[in-house]
This record gives sequence, structure tokens and C-alpha cells, in this order.
Amino acid sequence: MTLQSLWVVAEPGSGSFTTTSLELLSHARTLSANIAAVTWADGSQLAGLAGDYGAATLYDVGDLAGALPGVPVAAAIESLVSTVGPPDALLIPGSYDGRDIAARLSARLDRTVLTNVVGISDDNGLVTEHPAFGGNQVVRARFTSQGPGIVVVRAKSFAAEVTGGAPATVVGAPAGDIAATGTARVITSHVEERSGPALEDAEVVVSGGRGLGSAEAYALVAEVANLLGGAAGASRAIVDAGWVPYSHQVGQTGKTVKPTVYIACGISGATQHMVGMKGSKNIIAINKDSDAPIFQIADLGIVGDVHAVLPRLIAELKLRP
Ligand SMILES: Cc1cc2nc3c(=O)[nH]c(=O)nc-3n(C[C@H](O)[C@H](O)[C@H](O)COP(=O)(O)OP(=O)(O)OC[C@H]3O[C@@H](n4cnc5c(N)ncnc54)[C@H](O)[C@@H]3O)c2cc1C
Repeated sequence: MTLQSLWVVAEPGSGSFTTTSLELLSHARTLSANIAAVTWADGSQLAGLAGDYGAATLYDVGDLAGALPGVPVAAAIESLVSTVGPPDALLIPGSYDGRDIAARLSARLDRTVLTNVVGISDDNGLVTEHPAFGGNQVVRARFTSQGPGIVVVRAKSFAAEVTGGAPATVVGAPAGDIAATGTARVITSHVEERSGPALEDAEVVVSGGRGLGSAEAYALVAEVANLLGGAAGASRAIVDAGWVPYSHQVGQTGKTVKPTVYIACGISGATQHMVGMKGSKNIIAINKDSDAPIFQIADLGIVGDVHAVLPRLIAELKLRP
């Protein structure tokens, strides 16, 4: 291992870290023996979890009392870099808050950010992988300047795996004086209602595309997802058409999913869609056009009309005990 140390921005969420944060911690552990996490919550509650996923140290900015994390967390990391020394790189989830922190850190530390990263390896220094041309090509990049490099990583780029380390040592990392920049407060937040698992975490994802023909027909997709205990996704075409919210979108400008089973219903298989689901273990496609590109990556292809296939699938699933 040539990387002396890596820090991972571990976003807190629902008494844990977000799934992407756990993915980054798990992967960081394979690249360096010295991993620290940076969070903003009650660090003592999360020290065990941070250790489980490979962090030896947990820098805790503390409760932000409703402030957006961008300003205080970037300020705290800048201060840490000057007091304890820089890591080789900072790995940051590609979430809204993660990207905000990365941009501010880049300005504060005068260091480069590599974004939309889907792979990280150690090849005599940190090497990142980025999808280009809708995922048809992978570009490899490395930092040429002094660390710390700032790396913003897409969700589902790595597996989240417990490594079973001792609880991380919690070290306070106050943001210091952030003056007027820290005055923006989150007044209210809205949790989108859903009955099944989150799209990113579901073992089964059933997605609908323009081939459904109407917003109403999406109910068929939602019902299959529900009967299989999975989540319902969508192509961008039907998000843009206003049939379903953006939170359902799978693909380059939506979510990346890697379920055990992905069922694409009336989706052509544009590269921008496939880049978000081609890592699924088993892909089933239903499309009336036997030449649809989605069949090139499908493990099982059904050439047929979704309006005929999905109702029959629903009827069969309802017969299951
Ligand atoms: C910068 C950029 C980013 C993008 N990001 C994304 C992204 O994140 N996610 C994404 O999905 N797209 C994205 N797109 C859009 C992408 O290029 C495609 O336009 C989109 O994925 C097409 O959606 P679709 O497959 O639902 O529709 P279409 O391409 O119109 O395909 C519909 C399919 O349904 C089939 N069909 C029609 N009727 C039936 C029927 N009755 N039964 C069965 N099959 C039927 C057709 O044969 C066809 O294959 C992006 C594009 C750009 C330029």
C-alpha cells in the first residue's frame, strides 16, 4: 500500500452513516491501513460503526443544530489538515451535501477535486475511474499535485462490508468561527413516503420506461415491485414526462442501482440508463422490439407488450403462497 492515510467524509443519517459513506469506508480500508472518518453527529454513538467499517479515528464536527454541513464541515477539515497534517486523499460521497463540502474544501485548501468517480485503486498513488460518453468509456485519472486530493464518489461504486475493527477513537473537530457563512439553517425537511425499500438499497428493482405509454400504466410497474418486495424505478424519459418523480430515475443523471434482480419494462436501454443499472446481478427486460439495446445486457429477455406481460406476471405473483 503506497497510500499513508485516507479520510472519508461519513455523512450521518438515521443513527448511522449513509450507505455511500459505508461503501467509501469499506473501500478505503483496502487502499490504506490508516483510515479516518469525518462526521457531524454524536460521534460517541457512531464510533463502533466507524470501527466496524475500518476507521481507526472518527473526527467529529459535532451537532450542527440544523446548519447545512457544507460550510462548517469544510472549515473543520481545513483546520484538521493544518493541525494533524493532510491525508493522501479525502473520499466524499457524491450526495448534495458531499458535493457542497468538496467544492468548499477545494477552494479552502486550493486542491483539485475529481468528481463522478466510480473506481479507486492504488497504482503507485491514487488512481480514479470516471465514466465518460454515457458510460461507454472509462477514464482513469490521478492527482499530480501535492495532497490531499479531493475525490467525489458515486453511490454503489463499492460494496459496504464490515471488517470488524475496534471502535474508532473519537476526536473533536470543531468548525471554529465560520462567521456569517454559517447562518443558513434547515427549517424543515420532507421524507418522501414509500412502503418498500429505498431504490438504492432494494434487492429487486422494477423500472418502467416510455414503452408503458402512459403515467397510469406505471401502476403495473409499482405493483410488480410491491409483490416482489422491491422498489420501483424509472427511465429519464418518463421522469421528464412528469409521470414519476425524479427520485425514481435510474441512470447517469439519476441513481445507480445494483440489485440482485433488475426488471426493465418498456425501456430501450440507452447508454445513459444502462450506466445506472448494468451492475445488477440479473437483468430481465420486457420490450416489444427484439432489437432494443437493453436485450444486449439482459440475462433474460421477454419480447412482448408490457400491457400483456405485466398483468400476467402480477396474476402469477398473486398466486404465490
Ligand atoms: C446527458 C444525458 C443524461 C441522461 N441521463 C439519463 C438517466 O439518468 N437515465 C435514463 O434513463 N436516461 C437518461 N438519459 C436519456 C436517455 O438517453 C434516453 O432518452 C432514455 O433513457 C430513454 O428512456 P426510455 O427507454 O424509457 O424511452 P425510449 O428510448 O423511447 O424507449 C422506449 C422503449 O419501449 C419499447 N416499447 C414501446 N411500447 C412498448 C410496449 N407496449 N411494450 C414493451 N415495450 C414497448 C420501445 O421498443 C422502446 O425500446 C440521458 C440523456 C442525456 C443526453
